[in-house]
Amino acid sequence: MSRAYTFFERASRAFRAYPTLSKLLVVSTVSGGGIVAFSDARPIQRLLGDHGEGECKKKKVVVLGTGWAGYSFLTYLNNPSYEVHVVSPRNYFLFTPLLPSVTNGTVEARSIVEPIRKLTSKKSFQYEEAECYKIDAKNKKIYCRSKQETTLKGTEEFIMDYDILVVSVGAQSNTFNTPGVEENAMFLKEVEHAQNIRKAVIDCFERASLPNLSDEERKRILHFVVVGGGPTGVEFSAELHDFLVEDVAKIYPQVQEFTRITLLEASDHILNMFDKRITNFAEEKFQRDGIDLKTGSMVIKLTADEISTKEKGTGKIVHEPYGMVVWSTGIGSRPVIKDFMQQIGQGHRRVLATDEWLRVEGTEDVYALGDCATINQRRVVEDIAAIFSKADKVNKGTLNIKDFQGAVKDICQRYPQVEIYLKKRKMKNIQDLLKSYEGEDQEVNIEKFTKALSEVDSQMKNLPATAQVANQQGHYLAKCFNRMEECEKNPEGPLRFRGEGRHRFQPFRYRHLGSFAPLGGEQTAAELPGDWVSIGHSTQWLWYSVYASKLVSWRTRMLVVSDWGRRFIFGRDSSRI
Ligand code: FAD
Repeated sequence: MSRAYTFFERASRAFRAYPTLSKLLVVSTVSGGGIVAFSDARPIQRLLGDHGEGECKKKKVVVLGTGWAGYSFLTYLNNPSYEVHVVSPRNYFLFTPLLPSVTNGTVEARSIVEPIRKLTSKKSFQYEEAECYKIDAKNKKIYCRSKQETTLKGTEEFIMDYDILVVSVGAQSNTFNTPGVEENAMFLKEVEHAQNIRKAVIDCFERASLPNLSDEERKRILHFVVVGGGPTGVEFSAELHDFLVEDVAKIYPQVQEFTRITLLEASDHILNMFDKRITNFAEEKFQRDGIDLKTGSMVIKLTADEISTKEKGTGKIVHEPYGMVVWSTGIGSRPVIKDFMQQIGQGHRRVLATDEWLRVEGTEDVYALGDCATINQRRVVEDIAAIFSKADKVNKGTLNIKDFQGAVKDICQRYPQVEIYLKKRKMKNIQDLLKSYEGEDQEVNIEKFTKALSEVDSQMKNLPATAQVANQQGHYLAKCFNRMEECEKNPEGPLRFRGEGRHRFQPFRYRHLGSFAPLGGEQTAAELPGDWVSIGHSTQWLWYSVYASKLVSWRTRMLVVSDWGRRFIFGRDSSRI
């Protein structure tokens, strides 16, 4: 296809989308003034909110965020009947699992980001580099603000309407309102954070190497504190330890003896969400490495040079001088989500709730995925009477297990917790579950049925806030959108126990593919599907290969692999640039 053709095709597409723009371009070309010279009385929000004449039937889908969930949704969305707009303050996708490696220069920042415009221009989606600060679900509008400075006052803000909104804005670091954290701690969520940490570590070493400092002062400056013993805090501590031992010791031998890493965790163990064997291995390894691991230690205050903790065992308040603190204690909702939750009657909740189809509860045509939301999984017992009466066709009050046959598949599909429970208990199907309560061939009454399924409900867990979940949710939602029209006519979801007919789609189902915890020294722990635990050097190689394969493009894959190779051969780069 010739360049000229591509240009005209793009131009005509743009004109169809923005008829006003075509008028302006014609005027400006005729006048010879160029695009810079145009002026239009219509405010920018009208331009962005318009549907083109030829595309008035297209539904306008607005996607907020270009992280794991948003990027995956955009990648798999393939339905020409949507006009897609993307709004995000970040014009790239960030591969967060390798962010800790950026803090010490193992991997360069540019190697783990993928420009969003590459994807949007390939798919003819519109992208606006801005953040949404308000969602008005009643009027189907979003309010956005750009960080770009323009000469025309007021143009950095715009309003965009939508037919369908996909919210995937992620979450922010949670400080639990601990005094001084916002002002004095460093965070590790964005690529700039990782770059700032890298500079701050080098700064500490340069400062500690200056003459005329007391040993006390050097000790303070080179005391690195990590708060939070979850996967990010643990991985960062391990990366920092490797950097100090393998690289910094050679460059700053004169101050090496003053360095210390402390990892603070409020509960009794680090890596709580992992298998006990991994927790034990990590704790022992950190002890051997000389990382000062303090569990049961809750941070209560941070000043510019001192961190105060309350010790669980003794109740004592301990003050420690420090040079750098990295805060990694979990996530909380962004202000735009908190405001949205207030509007839709979810103000009492901690996280935005969706149903199993990722639709935000209490709204229409708004979906939420990734870290900004959680699935409010419906309990089977809430629908037990409806399920029972549907199965009890002749209204006899008790049911034979055989009577359930028709509904069994639908129950398993509608309530994902049932399948998870059966798998865990090594039961083949729901009949096995009922048999375990009733024995072979007995009649099931509603009380016993409720008891069996209450047990299933009680084992339900919220999905973790991970890239894996966000990525799968984006993929799932795109697949639903791709088949929207088809499934409107032929619903493919489970039977509606309350109401008639079938659900349009299958509910979202998460498949856990395993999780890694890099522990430094070329050792990683992994929890793999089927309750497999693997720890050590070979798992580190598994980690390398899985993460290289999960990177979203060949460009980033090549860059990351070459960064790893560079680190093996030349060590990490400690220049502060
Ligand atoms: P994000 O990926 O955070 O994306 C949110 C997007 O929304 C961004 O583009 C952001 O710019 C944009 N945005 C923010 N505010 C607005 C707004 N107001 N309007 C519009 N757009 C907005 N998970 C794993 O599974 N494995 C790992 O190994 C792993 N390692 C991690 C390491 C680190 C250091 C961190 C911080 C996280 C890690 N995670 C890992 C967790 C994982 O990164 C998150 O669960 C995942 O990023 C969530 O995806 P998301 O799309 O919901 O949010």
